[in-house]
Amino acid sequence: MTQAALLARSSDYVTPPWGDLEQAPFINACVEIDTPLDPHALLFVLQKIEAKFGRDRAKELRWGPRTLDLDLIAYDDVSIQKPELTLPHPRLFERAFVLVPLAEISPDRAIGGRSVASALAGLSTDGIERLTDD
Ligand code: ADP
Ligand code: MG
Repeated sequence: MTQAALLARSSDYVTPPWGDLEQAPFINACVEIDTPLDPHALLFVLQKIEAKFGRDRAKELRWGPRTLDLDLIAYDDVSIQKPELTLPHPRLFERAFVLVPLAEISPDRAIGGRSVASALAGLSTDGIERLTDD
């Protein structure tokens, strides 16, 4: 079964580490997909992909280095308030490293009544650099 079709993919962005500062920079990107999976089933698939890339949550510090972190930012206009799945993502509007790639593919998208581009306008993007192909 096709589990997702890729509709858009942002550039990759190098972003400064945060949380535990003694770690390498992150690379962040956003994709937009079309999927028949419901949000919980989609999160389950994302966590399986993280595990395939060597992620073992039992061995890592919160906010520390990780091999791959796949988060669900928004799913249509679905609102879910559970610890295992909160939608839209609860820290979306605090995080320029989410909003910069998201604004590249979806600046006019409204999430929780705010457009991505206007939410980004209120944040510092210091240190976030777009990686180019060359
Ligand atoms: P981070 O907050 O840095 O992404 P984790 O990837 O370890 O940290 O995620 C911690 C938990 O957050 C996961 O076990 C997951 O069930 C939960 N979670 C809640 N909402 C979401 C979401 N929108 N996307 C991804 N994970 C989520
Ligand atoms: Mg995560």
